[in-house]
Amino acid sequence: MTAIEYDVVIIGAGPVGENVADRIVQGGLTAAVVERELVGGECSYWACMPTKALLRSVSALRAARTVPGAREAVTGGLDVAAVLARRDSFASDWKDDGQVSWLESAGIALHRGQGRIASDRVVEVTGADGATATLSARHAVVVATGSSALLPDVAGLRQSAPWTSREAAAAKSVPGRLAIIGGGVVATEMATAYSALGSTVTVLARHGLLHEAEPFAAEMVAESLRRAGVSVRLGAEAASAQRDDAGTVRITLTDGDTIEADEILVAIGRTPNTQDIGLDSVGLKPGEWLAVDDTLRVVEGGGWLYAAGDVNRRVLLTHQGKYQARAVGDVIVARAKGETVEDGRWGRHVATADHSAVPQVVFTEPEVASVGLTAAAAEAAGLRIRVVDYNLGSVSGAALHAEGYQGQARMVVDEDRRVIVGFTLVGPDVAELIHTATIAIVGEVPLQRLWHAVPAFPTMSEVWLRLLEAEGL
Ligand SMILES: Cc1cc2nc3c(=O)[nH]c(=O)nc-3n(C[C@H](O)[C@H](O)[C@H](O)COP(=O)(O)OP(=O)(O)OC[C@H]3O[C@@H](n4cnc5c(N)ncnc54)[C@H](O)[C@@H]3O)c2cc1C
Repeated sequence: MTAIEYDVVIIGAGPVGENVADRIVQGGLTAAVVERELVGGECSYWACMPTKALLRSVSALRAARTVPGAREAVTGGLDVAAVLARRDSFASDWKDDGQVSWLESAGIALHRGQGRIASDRVVEVTGADGATATLSARHAVVVATGSSALLPDVAGLRQSAPWTSREAAAAKSVPGRLAIIGGGVVATEMATAYSALGSTVTVLARHGLLHEAEPFAAEMVAESLRRAGVSVRLGAEAASAQRDDAGTVRITLTDGDTIEADEILVAIGRTPNTQDIGLDSVGLKPGEWLAVDDTLRVVEGGGWLYAAGDVNRRVLLTHQGKYQARAVGDVIVARAKGETVEDGRWGRHVATADHSAVPQVVFTEPEVASVGLTAAAAEAAGLRIRVVDYNLGSVSGAALHAEGYQGQARMVVDEDRRVIVGFTLVGPDVAELIHTATIAIVGEVPLQRLWHAVPAFPTMSEVWLRLLEAEGL
């Protein structure tokens, strides 16, 4: 069979694959994406968008209830059917027509099916009907196949038909009792959503909650989940699970205790989608994360193989994957055209921010918004730091925002360079505040200059002024 030729072939049309292709085409080369499920990937249909749609209704109701005058207008609870319907529309009813039209308008070719690398720069696509097509890439192949939920080796768990994040994001009804194994972002966000939607939720968090965040953030989230009626069991570990004929799942913990639930959500982490993409054909090991250099080129990948997004394990977040996509798309174009590759720190063709300036929001109640290093991570990196904490609730803007506003801010300062290397905010509606800190960190803005960035009164941003004052400015 004759191969169809493109400049670049991208396996996986999630947010990252789509963005790589877009940059390639904008750079004047041709690109094809290969997709086995829905164009748009996990984020659009089973992750970011549907979960945040569920959580937004929760936070909007909370916001109204915490402001006298508005509170009185709230006469009922969440309308579960309406919340789920809004979620459905944000997941585009699990149809990808919109994204397919966008591909067409952007001049990107789409091949539906499972993509596998067959040899150097050659990708074979097997469609659902078994038909195959061979694609050949003049310059590069980019793996953007993402990741899938990891299931732990717990006796009887698989047979108990557990939910993964996919089922939690797309559920058509709310279970009466939901047990969650895990204590990370997905676990805490889904505990927040489902408890607000009416489930009795138990969280089994063997390693504690949000263990990569500042400890005070995790404590505030745990406390608030408990206040919402969630049973948060830190250190609890499932030993076995069994679903009976009536549909009840019984989970036995390692300490012998048992928990009953109607559904069990497993949210313990991710595994790379590299099992069946032909890595062995080019001497790489199937099933492993793909190690890359800062231009996202696969280590020992022959120079033509790149990997971006979840699959390289640098940062498992959409915005960071799309940032990588812009770098990798542009560097492939630059290399193809023989242009200078800007691969120094903060250069156009490298994903430098992955190492030191990754923003993340956990959309729990309260929200946790962070960027850069935690105090513990900065110390572990050998930095001489000063930690500055401030009670966000005592800022006028926060007090106005909600009655009894409770929140906390932490700034981690590199004492030698006098710049910020980490920032964490915890509190209702702090998500939109974090980008200011991202700019300060990426720009390596000296504290002395930040002093002149005056926050408007009365906004929550005034916490910046208070932190700088506490730092001695
Ligand atoms: C519940 C949940 C909530 C999340 N919320 C957020 C959030 O709020 N914000 C955020 O930034 N991140 C969030 N994330 C993370 C985010 O979803 C991922 O980081 C993002 O989807 C990664 O994009 P990707 O393109 O690398 O991979 P994916 O989105 O997984 O896309 C990969 C695509 O490749 C396709 N594919 C795989 N193998 C093949 C093959 N061999 N051939 C053809 N196609 C293939 C898949 O079908 C898929 O469409 C969340 C994750 C989860 C699980």
